[in-house]
Amino acid sequence: MTDIHLSEQQAQQYAEHPSGHHNSLDDHLQTCVHCQDLVASYRALFQAVAALPPPALSFDLSAQVAGQLPVAPRRIPWAAMLAGLLVLGFVAVALGFFWPYLGRVLAGVGTTIPLTLLVGAALVVFGHGLGSIMAHRRQLLALASF
Ligand SMILES: [Zn+2]
Repeated sequence: MTDIHLSEQQAQQYAEHPSGHHNSLDDHLQTCVHCQDLVASYRALFQAVAALPPPALSFDLSAQVAGQLPVAPRRIPWAAMLAGLLVLGFVAVALGFFWPYLGRVLAGVGTTIPLTLLVGAALVVFGHGLGSIMAHRRQLLALASF
């Protein structure tokens, strides 16, 4: 047994986590009425605080905070749209230019390779679309949790 009483912090920790590792405290607590009362008072205090109803504000805090947040301007990604149009135009011109040759090349290849490429491209587009939708849903859920 130690002659030193528990500190306020030790008594709080013991009251909050009585099954924790307090070997040196256990010995003292078994014999010291002063520290037993201190732990019991903190235990009663923690139970009383836990029984309190959650605080209710008389005003809508989320509306006030949301009203002060800066609103991001809706921007149309013109540069990305222009780049996409340029790429599509390039692909269309290239297809038009090489169309007579593509027919002969693809006729010799069969349908397996073009079909595999088409399915692969479709899977990539589907994966990106699904990823975008999931990211959008996560953002909405994060915003809704405020
Ligand atoms: Zn004591």
